[in-house]
Amino acid sequence: MSDGQKLEAARAKAGTNAPCGDCGRKEYFFAVKHLMHHLALGVLLCGACIMQLKAHGVMHTAEEKAKLVGVSALISKRRTEDILCDNCAVPESSQDTRQHIYNAEVGQVLCIACDSYRRMFGKDRDPSLETKRQAFMERGKQREEGIPVHCRQCNAAKTPENLHYYNAITSKVLCKACDLYHRKHGKDRNVSKEIRRQVMLEIKKKREDGIPLYCDECRKTETTADIEKEHFSCVGSDNRILCITCTNRLYRTASKAKKAAKKGMNEKEIEAIKAEARRNPIT
Ligand SMILES: [Zn+2]
Ligand SMILES: [Zn+2]
Ligand SMILES: [Zn+2]
Ligand SMILES: [Zn+2]
Repeated sequence: MSDGQKLEAARAKAGTNAPCGDCGRKEYFFAVKHLMHHLALGVLLCGACIMQLKAHGVMHTAEEKAKLVGVSALISKRRTEDILCDNCAVPESSQDTRQHIYNAEVGQVLCIACDSYRRMFGKDRDPSLETKRQAFMERGKQREEGIPVHCRQCNAAKTPENLHYYNAITSKVLCKACDLYHRKHGKDRNVSKEIRRQVMLEIKKKREDGIPLYCDECRKTETTADIEKEHFSCVGSDNRILCITCTNRLYRTASKAKKAAKKGMNEKEIEAIKAEARRNPIT
């Protein structure tokens, strides 16, 4: 039997889309059909495995095979879907620098950042670093578009003096104060005071700029006389801007509710008192 005949016989025996006798990759993966080498007669081999046999006289080691299969699987997958990093899940399509690669050592497809990290430190890169990096890029984009970046906790705007950070535990962009607080205490910073401080600054700025202030409750406009008598202020746990009338009413309602609670009224009755006060604004 000639070599050509032996090859045909082996192909007939293996059927369509036969695996390579060395690396196991299927014929359809390649542009050309598997061939045979005289050192491994009767075995169909892919081009890469033929080359290996020619160069070294032996087939691939198990390690080399795994790498070939991993790389090929990545290439095949890339034809039909977006490749995610096996460590940090960043999609290949979001990376404008380099494609993800197959890291044979761990048998995973990794983004460049995770792969380099692994090679450098011999361990997995913390996936939250990727989230952090993306959040950071997102913030950069927002800044370029002129959208102010605010702390998700206390609403403080980002300024060169008050840089914001991505807090990986809460997945929120936080100002330095809120970020540090969370890292230190493991819980959200109580920010009502901070919000009040900001509202007060806002009020001051508006007055300076001659922008009228409105009562958040009755919509009354602040007059020059009101400013002199400090009739408008930021009050309550929800830090609303209220005129003196609405402020007093708020306090009266609060004390009424408190008294009612002392008398042993139930929540429903207290709510009714509050609602009644809202319906009858003091004029
Ligand atoms: Zn092969
Ligand atoms: Zn990654
Ligand atoms: Zn904050
Ligand atoms: Zn009012």
